[in-house]
Amino acid sequence: MSYCVNCGVELEASLKECPLCHTPVINPKEAGKELPPSPYPTDKGQVEEVKRKDLGILLSVVLTATAGTCFLLNLLVFDHSLWSLQVIGICICLFVFTFPMVYYRKMPPALSLLADGVAVAVYLYMIAYLTPSTAWFWQLGLPIVVLVILNTEIFTFLARLVPFSLLSGALCLFIEIPLFCAALELMIRRMLQSPLRLTWSAVVLTVCAIIDVALVTILVKKRLRNEVRRRLHF
Ligand SMILES: [Zn+2]
Repeated sequence: MSYCVNCGVELEASLKECPLCHTPVINPKEAGKELPPSPYPTDKGQVEEVKRKDLGILLSVVLTATAGTCFLLNLLVFDHSLWSLQVIGICICLFVFTFPMVYYRKMPPALSLLADGVAVAVYLYMIAYLTPSTAWFWQLGLPIVVLVILNTEIFTFLARLVPFSLLSGALCLFIEIPLFCAALELMIRRMLQSPLRLTWSAVVLTVCAIIDVALVTILVKKRLRNEVRRRLHF
């Protein structure tokens, strides 16, 4: 048994240098003798990196298997209703949502957002198809999806148009949220056939208007802007 002269670590007989401090191992008694073969492998084993393509294959297989097996279960065993449509709808949505991340990264964000919206709308329609009335889909479900997608499209468009910072992003968000809330309240009132006016969304509008005024002031006044950036570390 030998030990490193520098750090004192116990050394395996086949080592030519200390594995910790790399001090050469010289044993005068063993000089000239052939060293025993090293028990450690010379190549560093490394697991091959998972490629995006493999991930895509796995995801497609899992989603197709889920949709297919549920469809068969619906067809052959629990055939009282078309419940498998809901599972198939979720699988289609997941496929569309992950498409730009896993399969095609060059897809323009506006197009992928539109595709997400269409997928969600189709899914909601599938659910509406299974319920006694589809009125809620046309009066509330579809308009909300259109509104959310439209809002997000405008947000991403603005984000690319102007130099984007946390402050200007927050300003965009606090303009879009109250508009969305107001439209939502009007849609709900129309569906319930109550008079078209704003109540709870007016409160959201007021609060957001105050925040917007404050944000605009900070953005316009350079000293204020720099102070906020300094304090919030961005
Ligand atoms: Zn050592």
